[in-house]
Amino acid sequence: MYLSKTSILAGLNCAKHLYLMLKHPELAIAKESPLAEAGIAVGKKAREEFSNGVLVNRFQRDEDAFAESRKFLDDESTAAIFEAGFRFQDTEVFVDILQRAESGWNLIEVKSATSVKDDYIDDAAIQYHVLTSAGIVINRVELMHLNRDFEYQGNGDYRGLFIRQDITERVTAHVSFIRDEIVHIRRAISNGEPVRHVAGHCKTPYVCEFKSWCEKQDGEYPVGWLPNAAVVIRQLHDNGIYDIRDIPVEMLNSETHLKVRRVTIQGQPELAPDAAEILQALSYPRYYLDFESINFAIPIWPGTRPTQQHPFQWSCHVQTNDGKITHMEFLDVSGNDPRREFAESLIHACGSQGTVIVYNQTFEKGIIKNLAAAYDDLSEALLAINRRVFDLLPVMKQYYYHPAMKGSWSIKSVLTCLLPELRYSDLGEVQDGLMAQSAYLQIINGKLTKEKREALTADMLAYCKLDTYAMLAIVEKVCNR
Ligand code: SF4
Repeated sequence: MYLSKTSILAGLNCAKHLYLMLKHPELAIAKESPLAEAGIAVGKKAREEFSNGVLVNRFQRDEDAFAESRKFLDDESTAAIFEAGFRFQDTEVFVDILQRAESGWNLIEVKSATSVKDDYIDDAAIQYHVLTSAGIVINRVELMHLNRDFEYQGNGDYRGLFIRQDITERVTAHVSFIRDEIVHIRRAISNGEPVRHVAGHCKTPYVCEFKSWCEKQDGEYPVGWLPNAAVVIRQLHDNGIYDIRDIPVEMLNSETHLKVRRVTIQGQPELAPDAAEILQALSYPRYYLDFESINFAIPIWPGTRPTQQHPFQWSCHVQTNDGKITHMEFLDVSGNDPRREFAESLIHACGSQGTVIVYNQTFEKGIIKNLAAAYDDLSEALLAINRRVFDLLPVMKQYYYHPAMKGSWSIKSVLTCLLPELRYSDLGEVQDGLMAQSAYLQIINGKLTKEKREALTADMLAYCKLDTYAMLAIVEKVCNR
């Protein structure tokens, strides 16, 4: 069985992941990310920087793609080959860009990131190993990534969008490790499913699509659910402890971990009275606020940069001290840069006094700060909103836990346990942030029917509205328990 670059990368992180990919792909729960599309678009844009390049047809049998790649390689008029495929022994790779050099080729890996990350070196080293083993001379290895300082000026002028970094030394120093690892992971999966328990490697550098499956194997309450606990989880696994309820109390130090253990053993949620005290003290009017945003790897609006967050929607529930609740919202699906109108409408909605309540303030405050930097005339009013922000997340994290929260204090986890009657699953096609981004892209691409566009817009509004109503309902529940 041939191993692709993607499967080897998965195997480097976790041999069980590779095994499940190959033997039980049906167990994967994959979420489609709008970022995947972005990666494809970046790859295409990068090719525009190479003249006389030829693209290998990937919509054919691998064998035919390999033969086509060899043909291009031997044709001296070919200055660059895109998506060239090569196989050595049991490993096969497709290279983003091979650029002809004086004596040999430059191997160029394209990434829709703005810097070099360690796993990109693994990625390039796998390709280097296969190509050099297959007899291709590689002069240089480069990472071609987005330039975070590039500001799009419009008119399709993307000169300066990419930075090319020479990573030859790092890759060549790493290649013998990669060769050994390929042998090692082959061996690890040859005797059936490798034993591996849920821990930090299941979430970083990405959330593994087999996480739900592995969690079930680890028991009802896997220790991998302990938040921010990579070292502790390793120690527990080393001691043969896999279920939170089996952890000896002396093995935990953090208050959060102790609470998770205690509540899980009790089988009952815990809500400390301090939470109500803190929340009751929040001043009115209370503005429950939530944003949706998107980033484009390749900027589409003048004045914007790669991977910059663009807020396109907000929802706000306003509660006055007489108990009256009103709702306001903003959504721009015109396809134009939404930031200015977003900022102006937000300033108008949030008034000048009272508490602005968000869930996980880093995101909302960051968006507001960026808007303030973009619009001088709105800056003071925007930053004044930030000064009124109160973050609900740390309060819930410190004072509430339910055994069914799986170590997560996301608003969805908290809501499901505290107010099970309010369900995101009752919403339409938009039930989380990624779905909101995907809906936004579908709408601004302009290919939907009027009916579909209206239905999706309504789903986006309903989703964001639930987010802010959820915060309000959580605060009410905590204060009136
Ligand atoms: S969830 Fe974790 S242990 Fe399971 S396959 Fe994925 S990375 Fe490996």
